[in-house]
Amino acid sequence: MLSKLKNSLLEIIFPIRCVGCGEEGEWFCRNCVQKIKLNEKQFCPVCWRENFGGKVCDRCESPLAGIRVAASYEKNPELARAVKTLKYKFSENLADNLAAILAQSISSKNYTNERVVSFVPLHKKRLKWRGFNQAELLAKKVSANLNLLLENLLVRVKNTPQQAKLNRAERLRNLENAFEVSPKFSVADKTVILVDDISSTGSTLVECAKVLKKAGAGEVWGLVLARG
Ligand SMILES: [Zn+2]
Ligand SMILES: [Zn+2]
Repeated sequence: MLSKLKNSLLEIIFPIRCVGCGEEGEWFCRNCVQKIKLNEKQFCPVCWRENFGGKVCDRCESPLAGIRVAASYEKNPELARAVKTLKYKFSENLADNLAAILAQSISSKNYTNERVVSFVPLHKKRLKWRGFNQAELLAKKVSANLNLLLENLLVRVKNTPQQAKLNRAERLRNLENAFEVSPKFSVADKTVILVDDISSTGSTLVECAKVLKKAGAGEVWGLVLARG
């Protein structure tokens, strides 16, 4: 409540402006969202060979079925600004607009199994400190957009240092045993669409997929806005 009051006071002094066109009123206006160029090409998340749909190719192995990357920062610099804004500002409207990009990027895919939407969780200490998890917020909007169930499947049991500050080897070690599947849900044979805002090496999504597969999930797909 207090933070909401603080937010509205701040908005009077520093009005919300669109990260694309600078227009007042929204963080990322509909007009600018519609101009985002979605990725036409997708790549195997292991070897980076071009691959239709972002599926892990025949030559590679991963607990993930694939990663769908909606767009690129290079072609859409305003998207980078929007993603950064969502990290620090709880905005349902911004999440809605970004989720529309995610949903659009995955809507053409066909799946045979039951699909559920989930997200990369934060550790509860970090969640308390940050106030919200932008991946959860995006996942909630994506699930509504695609008319699928949102399930809080994963728990982050290790409060790991931020991945961005580590090199690749450290990242992998950092994430070991960081996630568990919540006993409240059954993932058996389900196709899980795992939402995160961005993915750089994909190691967080891989680690999440590992525990979901162990718990019996059918396919685990990563869905991110960009590689960053
Ligand atoms: Zn705009
Ligand atoms: Zn490959």
